[in-house]
Amino acid sequence: MPELPEVETVARGVHERVSGDRIVQVWFSSQPQTFKTPPIQQADGLKGRTIVAVHRTGKHIVFELGPSSGNGLRAEVQEVRRRRSNAVSPEAQWIVHLGMTGRLLVTSPNSPVPSHTHARLDLASGKELRFVDPRRFGRLEYRDLQRDRAFHGPGAEPLTIGAQEFAALFHSTRMTIKAALLDQSLLAGVGNIYADESLFQAGIRPRRRSNRLTFAELDRLRVALQKVLEKAVRLGGSSVSNYVDADGERGLFQFQHYVYQRTGEPCRRCQTPIRRVVVAGRGTHYCPQCQN
Ligand SMILES: [Zn+2]
Repeated sequence: MPELPEVETVARGVHERVSGDRIVQVWFSSQPQTFKTPPIQQADGLKGRTIVAVHRTGKHIVFELGPSSGNGLRAEVQEVRRRRSNAVSPEAQWIVHLGMTGRLLVTSPNSPVPSHTHARLDLASGKELRFVDPRRFGRLEYRDLQRDRAFHGPGAEPLTIGAQEFAALFHSTRMTIKAALLDQSLLAGVGNIYADESLFQAGIRPRRRSNRLTFAELDRLRVALQKVLEKAVRLGGSSVSNYVDADGERGLFQFQHYVYQRTGEPCRRCQTPIRRVVVAGRGTHYCPQCQN
């Protein structure tokens, strides 16, 4: 299951390769599970649109789409208005959830099409964007922003959240801090590894009550979490020099854990054996000396 850093890596890689490009032709498979919006509706909506930007929201990859050049006068008028206001205002979104095994590939049209390919988008540059998903837990959704509301994840963004908002979120719950970090309605996309590693870096024991932590402790935690996630994004990114082979797993494999799954091994800072407990039903690793 891809976690936040892998999804961020994919979103950044796709953004670099396709932003500014235009979708000229769309093909979808006939596997109904994959399509949250009916494929015909998605194809109609996507065709002709410019890809303004690609970014991550929670564990979703969101394509912000500009006006369709095939819409004639209406689109032209909107385009003029957009240029005048000098603001990039997306008119539609294509939302990709990778599920367990989903992959987004930017490739050339004549490269062999892998089995379990559910979407092929021909771009004006000659590139092709493909969605491949053997187990079909991934989802594709289309939103027309003149009709539907824009996509927002359930929780706040851990990579960009500020000190005040972070403290307010975590002071609002009596859960343990470990459980609160994993609660997707508070922060979107933080998994078990990143929760344990950031609590270690911040020197906070996983079973402490979230609302009892001081502002200073919560800010140490916020900074640590952002560092841990950014590091994982960098490792995810560096392992996939050829984006077509992106799978994220290899990036995480290289990740230098301080506590996660190091039960009984000496702490890298103080040599005390790392302990494992179960918090919120999840295996939780910490150093009894470094974390208070
Ligand atoms: Zn230690």
